[in-house]
Formats: sequence, structure tokens, C-alpha cells
Amino acid sequence: MLPPTGLPKEQILAAMQAARQRDVDWQHGKVFSLVFDAGDEVNALAKEAYTLFFSENGLNPTAFPSLRRFEAEVVAMVGELLGGQGQTAGNMTSGGTESILMAVLAAREWARVHRPHVRQPEMVLPRTAHPAFDKAAHYFGVKAVHTPVREDFRADPAAVRRALTPNTVLVVGSAPAYPHGVVDPIAELAQIAQERGILCHVDACVGGMMLPFVRWLGYPVPPFDFSVPGVTSISVDLHKYGYAAKGASVILYRSKALRRHQLFATTEWPGGIYASPTMAGTRPGGAIAAAWAVLNFLGEAGYLRIADVVMRTTQQFRDAVHAVAGLQVLSNPEMSVMAIASDRDNIYEIGDELAARGWHLDRQQFPPSLHLTINYVHRHSAQRFFLDLAEATIAVRRLSLSKLGSRALPVAAAAVVKALPAGAASWLTARAGALLKGGGGVPQRSAAMYGMMGSLPNRGDLRELVLDLLESFTDPPR
Ligand SMILES: *Cc1c(COP(=O)(O)O)cnc(C)c1O
Repeated sequence: MLPPTGLPKEQILAAMQAARQRDVDWQHGKVFSLVFDAGDEVNALAKEAYTLFFSENGLNPTAFPSLRRFEAEVVAMVGELLGGQGQTAGNMTSGGTESILMAVLAAREWARVHRPHVRQPEMVLPRTAHPAFDKAAHYFGVKAVHTPVREDFRADPAAVRRALTPNTVLVVGSAPAYPHGVVDPIAELAQIAQERGILCHVDACVGGMMLPFVRWLGYPVPPFDFSVPGVTSISVDLHKYGYAAKGASVILYRSKALRRHQLFATTEWPGGIYASPTMAGTRPGGAIAAAWAVLNFLGEAGYLRIADVVMRTTQQFRDAVHAVAGLQVLSNPEMSVMAIASDRDNIYEIGDELAARGWHLDRQQFPPSLHLTINYVHRHSAQRFFLDLAEATIAVRRLSLSKLGSRALPVAAAAVVKALPAGAASWLTARAGALLKGGGGVPQRSAAMYGMMGSLPNRGDLRELVLDLLESFTDPPR
């Protein structure tokens, strides 16, 4: 309910501070994928730039030539980075989802002109592609045809080829796909699309601002951008590894002609001629301005330096996972996104134990795994992660451990951890003792929930349950 009279500012701010007490604490490098942070200096600049353009509106570029220039320059900078050679066209959007929505819409509209026989447009996408494509299918009436991935979790070009029909207008690949952090064989996917004369979108939402620098650093990165013939559009998020303020992504097309299919205009409204490039009408000037500021502040050298730190940190996290017996990183991710699984323990239970120690990792399914998106904010967390991961694994096995008695603890802990760094062994065995006294009080156990979901015979029931939950988030507070 709207308060009958306004509240004092102090009271409001205090209420907001109190409200955030139970939010995840991302500043200490224990939260993954929700917050990308390049340090105080970058953050301060983004905030200042955002505030400077707090009131401006990107809806009408003629009113704000400043925002028009920022957007044009951001799109050009990112296009250049991704092999566009000055030929690409695009727009800034509110995020990866909107960029992907635009790519699918543009493909549908392109087909209306260039494939008039298609009544029911279809897109072929690997099972690992982001749900934003399914959202686009849901919104725009494009049929999503999912294909299985290979054993290494990358798209299977043969399966994609088999899924093509005369109605297919778009082939999708990811660089990398979010669940396992692996880059699809973009060159092969784009070639399939090119042979058919259809479009190919590369979802580089998470990788677009990282992979070019990872390659410059000397790590192997397969071609994934406009340098690959047949790639017709790319989505790149700036609010991920671009370290911009939230609400910033770019959708790029190989040519202006392709981008044309994305645009909207109506000339019949009594309110005047109305044109808008993307989903949003009003667009926050702050997000556009902050992205421009951060790109210019970091420059190539800044992103390269950060990517170097992130890749070294990623290696430390990978070592930590491999140091714990039974745990693996799935496949061989090209950059800093990965999934970890266990062939011995219930990985969701390990996730719960990590949550009890303040870590926030997404749970994944098919196969069960935990998800890590390493960025600059994690540069000091790897050692802590290793210790907590080892402890979490011991805790999950504590029932069998407790039978051994406390004398066997150092041996048992050593069996969980393959190679202990100096000093960690005594710390770990001391903590393992505390674990044996019986856990209890572990908040937010999701292992049971995921276990239950996996056993539901009807996935449709699950969908209804999830929709109920979504509705409840905006129920009025009781
Ligand atoms: C994050 C992400 C998206 C969606 O981006 P939002 O900004 O969350 O809308 C799409 N694809 C991939 C690969 C992503 O990592």
C-alpha cells in the first residue's frame, strides 16, 4: 500500500539497508554469475557516469545527441572487437535477453522478406543455448528445435544438420554456452547455415568481452565472431565481462541491411511518428553512459589485464576442484565459466554445504552440477574456496566418517583432499572435527528440492510449480 503521507528519507534508507541484510554478500568473492565487479575504481566511474545521465532517456536520440553518440561508439567498439571490420550495425539493449529477443525477431522478419514460403519459422539450437531463445520462441511464435550436445557438451553439428527443415530460418551457437562454459563449434554451425542460405546467431553474451582478450593472452580460443563466414548476428553483454552497470548489452548484425529487420516504426499514431530500435521504449540514459565510460576507461589494455587475472584465478579454482577426490570440472571450458560435478557424492549436497559457508553457486541438471562464473571479484577467493570445498565434501561424507572415530580424521580428510597446500592440512582436520558433531541448521537445503524435482514423473507439473513461485514473488506482502 502506498503510504498515505511520505516517509522521511532517513527512515526509507534505513529500511533499505535493513532489507538487504539477507541478500547474498557478493563483495567478498563468494557469489557467482549475478555480479561482475572489476574493482572500486571501475565501479566508482560507472556510478558517476550513470548518475550523470540518471535522468536522460535513450528513447529519442535527437533530444539527447550525447546518448546517441555513446550508443553508436559502444556498438562500434564492440563490433570492431568482434571482427566486424567497420561493417556491422547494432544497438544497445537492456541485457542479453533483449539482445537475443532482437536477433530472433530479426530472423523472423528477415524470413518474411527472403523466405516467403515459410509459414512457421523455426530455429535450431543446441540444448545448452540460453533460455532467452525459448523466451523469444514464446514471444514471437518462432518454433525452437533443440538438438542434443556432444559428450564434451558442445553443439553437435551433425544433429543440427539433421534438425533443419525447409522452415528453419536461424541456427544458434554459443561462445560459450552458460551451463558448462564451452564454446560451440561456431565455424561448422555457421557453415551449415550458410549452405542453406539462412542466418546464424552467436550468443557471446558471457564470452564476447572476454574471449578476444583470452585469445590475445595466448589461450586457445576457436574462431567464434564475424571473422567466421556465415555468422550473421552476435549478442554481447556489457554488464558481464564488460564490467558496465546493469542494463547494458549489445546486439550486432553483420550488415545494416540485416539490422533493418529488427527496427520498429509506426507513422499512424496521433501522438506522432514513433520509432524505436529495440523492445524498450524509454531507455535509461545511465546504463548507456556508464557502459561508454567503462569501455573508454579500461580500453584494450585494461580488459587484457583483467582477463589475465581472471584466467589465472580460474586456474586456481580448477586446481581446487581437482584437488578434492571425486570432484571434476566438466569438459574443458575455454574461459572462466565452468561446471563441477562429482562421481562419488551428491553434488547438490556439496552445494548446500557450500551455501552454509556463504557461497552462492547455481545448481544445474542433466547432469547434476554446480556452476562457477569466475570474474575479477574472485581474485582473492580461490584458497578459501578450496578449503570450504574440501570441508563441504567431508561434511557430506560425515556419516561414514563418524564411524571411523576422531582418531582417523586426519587420514579421512587427507583421503578427501588429494594434495594439501602448506598449512591447510591442520586447519582442515581441526574443522573436520567440528563437523562430526552433527551438522543441523544448514539453511536453504536445495539438494532435497532438486532430488524431488528430478523424481517428478511429469515435467509439466514442475513447470506449473515454477510459475506459481514466479507469481508469488509479486504477491502483495501480507
Ligand atoms: C547471461 C546470458 C544470457 C542472458 O543475459 P541477461 O543479461 O541475463 O538477460 C544469454 N546468454 C548467455 C550465454 C548468458 O551467459
